[in-house]
Amino acid sequence: MSFSRRSFFSKSFLGLVGTSFFSSTWCPKTEGQKVVSNKTVRPIVISTWTNHEANNAAWNIISANGTAIDAVEAGARVPELDAADRSVGYGGRPDREGYVTLDACIMDENGDAGGVCFLQGIKHPVSVARLVMEKTPHVLLAGQGALQFALENGFKQENLLTNISKKEWEDWKKTAQYHPVINIEQHDTIGILAMDKAGNLSGACTTSGLAYKMHGRVGDSPIIGAGLYVDNEIGAATATGMGEAVLKSLGSFLVVELMRQGLSPNEACKEAVMRIVKKQAYKNIQIGYIAINKQGEFGSFALQPGFQFVTNQNRVSKERLSKSYL
Ligand code: ASP
Repeated sequence: MSFSRRSFFSKSFLGLVGTSFFSSTWCPKTEGQKVVSNKTVRPIVISTWTNHEANNAAWNIISANGTAIDAVEAGARVPELDAADRSVGYGGRPDREGYVTLDACIMDENGDAGGVCFLQGIKHPVSVARLVMEKTPHVLLAGQGALQFALENGFKQENLLTNISKKEWEDWKKTAQYHPVINIEQHDTIGILAMDKAGNLSGACTTSGLAYKMHGRVGDSPIIGAGLYVDNEIGAATATGMGEAVLKSLGSFLVVELMRQGLSPNEACKEAVMRIVKKQAYKNIQIGYIAINKQGEFGSFALQPGFQFVTNQNRVSKERLSKSYL
C-alpha cells in the first residue's frame, strides 16, 4: 500500500506539558569522566511512562550498590518480557506486514554505546544491544545481522507476535488505515536513565516502534543521540513519541548539550521540544523527553498533554498545561 506522510499523524490535544524537578546540593568532583567523590551523590532512576515495575527493577540494583548500566538494562528487560506491554518486545504490535521488529540501545558512563534495530524474534533486544557495546567494535547492528549476533551469543529465536497482537493486526488490515493515537496505542517505549551511588550515569531505550509502521522502518529509539544520550560529565536524556521528529532533531543529544550550556533538565527538555515546534510539523504528534543531570536533578517536557514518567520515588509527573504553541 502507498504510504502517506499525512496519514502518519492523528488529531489529538494541543498544548505543552512541563514537569517539575528537585534541586540538590551535589558538587561534582570529577577526574576525567570518573566521579571520585560520592559524598553528595543523589542516585536516581527515571523512566518514561508509568512502568513502576521496570523502574523498581532498576532501582533495586542501584540501592544494592549496583551500577547504573546494570540497572537500566534490568529495567528495560521488564516491559520487553511483558506481553501486556504492546509497544515493547514480546507482545509488541507488528508492522504492517505482521512482523514484530524491535529497536533498542544502551549507553554507559564511559560513553560506550550499543544498539540493535529491525531485530526480530529476540525477547531482550536491550541485552543484545549491551553485548554489541561490550563485545563488538560497532555501535549498531541491524536486522538479520543483529539476529545472527544474538543467536551466536545464546539468545533464543522465538515468536513474539501474541494472539491478541495478531488479531488486532488482522482487523487493522481490513482498512489498513494508519492513524496513530497519541499517548495510547503507539507510545509506550521505555527510555530509562539512572545515576548510581558512585554518581555514574547510564541509559537504555527499547521499543517495538510504531504499530503498523512500514516494514523496515527504524525509529529514534536505537539511535544514539536521538532516542538516548548519556554524557557522564553532564547528564543523560531519552525520548519517546514520534521517532521521526526526534531523529530529525537528534533530540536526546540536544537535551544533553543544552544541559551542558547550563539549562536545567526541565529547561533543556522544553527547549528540545520547542526546536521541533519551530522546525517541524508537530501538531498531531507526541514527543516526550526525560533527563537527569550530574546534580541529581531530573526534568521532563512533552509536546502534548498526557505524557508521564516515573522515578524511583514513585513520583509520577503531574501534568501541567501551558499555553498552546499553535
Ligand atoms: N519513539 C518510538 C518510535 O518512534 C515510539 C515510541 O516512543 O513509542 O519508534
